[in-house]
Amino acid sequence: MPDYTTIIGLEVHVQLATKSKLFCRCSTQFGAEPNTQTCPVCIGMPGSLPVMNREALNLALKTAVALNCTIPPMTKWDRKQYYYPDLPKGYQISQYDMPMSEHGFLEIADSKDRFETKQVRILRAHLEEDAGKSVHDEVAGRADSMIDLNRTGTPLLEIVSEPDMRSGLEARAYLDELKLLLTYIGVSDCNMQEGSLRVDANVNLHIAASDGKIATPIVEIKNMNSFRAVERAIDYEARRQYDVWQETGAKIGDVPKQTRGWDDNAGVTRGQRSKEESSDYRYFPDPDLVPVKFSEAEVQTARESLGELPAALRSRLQAEHALSVYDSEVLVNQGVDVVAYYLAAVEVAGDGKAVCNWVSQDVLRVLKESEANIADFGISAKSLGEFVGKLKAGDLPSARGREVFDVMLEEGIDVDQAMQKLGIEEIDESELVGICQSLLEKNPKIVEDVKGGKQQAVGALIGQAKKQNPNADPGRVRQICLDLIAQM
Ligand SMILES: [Zn+2]
Repeated sequence: MPDYTTIIGLEVHVQLATKSKLFCRCSTQFGAEPNTQTCPVCIGMPGSLPVMNREALNLALKTAVALNCTIPPMTKWDRKQYYYPDLPKGYQISQYDMPMSEHGFLEIADSKDRFETKQVRILRAHLEEDAGKSVHDEVAGRADSMIDLNRTGTPLLEIVSEPDMRSGLEARAYLDELKLLLTYIGVSDCNMQEGSLRVDANVNLHIAASDGKIATPIVEIKNMNSFRAVERAIDYEARRQYDVWQETGAKIGDVPKQTRGWDDNAGVTRGQRSKEESSDYRYFPDPDLVPVKFSEAEVQTARESLGELPAALRSRLQAEHALSVYDSEVLVNQGVDVVAYYLAAVEVAGDGKAVCNWVSQDVLRVLKESEANIADFGISAKSLGEFVGKLKAGDLPSARGREVFDVMLEEGIDVDQAMQKLGIEEIDESELVGICQSLLEKNPKIVEDVKGGKQQAVGALIGQAKKQNPNADPGRVRQICLDLIAQM
């Protein structure tokens, strides 16, 4: 089988988190009764005039600078003409030849080293309005089609990458990082189920041939409703294109660009209509909307409003709290609230790694099981910090840490109260030595084994020590026994 490289570019449509639409004051709230959030402007009644929503532009600008894009001093609006039942105006207001931003990048990395860290270039990010939604009801033999125009005119930012990704895995990493970035800077909720984030993938192959490389025709894949689906669809499509190429030998340019839909249940892509060329859209500048000008100061303000971005935050956690790449990724990927919780707990405990272990294992496990947010978590950051601090100082035996954690969580009490409730108190060192001494006297065989080099034999005494005093810390019992034997 000759070598081939999969070439992937992604187009991501992100719904910006504005309360009202891009060119009118209708609500963008999800889930309302169909056609209750429309007005003459967004459904294109003759004589109605669009008025630009400044907030949408601000959010788009914020995103563009976060993606390291260049912001041209001027941008304009264009009409993209096409006929579709859910587009009552007969055109969509978009940005064609002068987008509000271009030439950025987003860095992707993999803590499991499955691909090399790379910058995926962003070709452009431009604003446009959303279309409505066709609802096809084919239940019970009916074939009704209904149109819901609530979504019409909702602000979208279309983020177009260069074809820089080489596997489904890289595409997924790009989407994960992009979503994280967008939620950190608060420009979108990125909810895929509600359509706030939609992905189309352009995929083709570069196949190594004796006389250079052969490119297969580009296919655009649609209808992917999870990042996992994007990854699967791309991997499937690469194999399919290779098979088609072997059968037909078709190269790029031999056939028009094809659009295929992803069927997640069947795990296959299926052919859809062919894609219009941009010349078919008959773009022209919207005569109702004036061009937008960005000043240096506005761009600077947007840049300053970003806060700490995920990549910088990961680096800081590694540098300041000695976390591994993997640990910093786990925390940062949980979102800005979990990171804030973590940092507040570290402030109290003074041990970044120990707090990270409790947050990434126990706290996140509980949140996942209860489908709750960190804001509703039963142990406050300060309380978790005190708990970890006590463990670290040895005031709370590590073997009983989880018990205490569970009681703190269930009863909503702090670490001192939980320890009291469980009857955990620190054992006096001399008491512990006494217990160990008597156990060694009763178990000469174990003493002999340890002296013979089998240190692990001492493990048998730990359970017995705990029977005599449940507060006995296994680590200390073990060490004391070894020390005593060494002196024998
Ligand atoms: Zn409206």
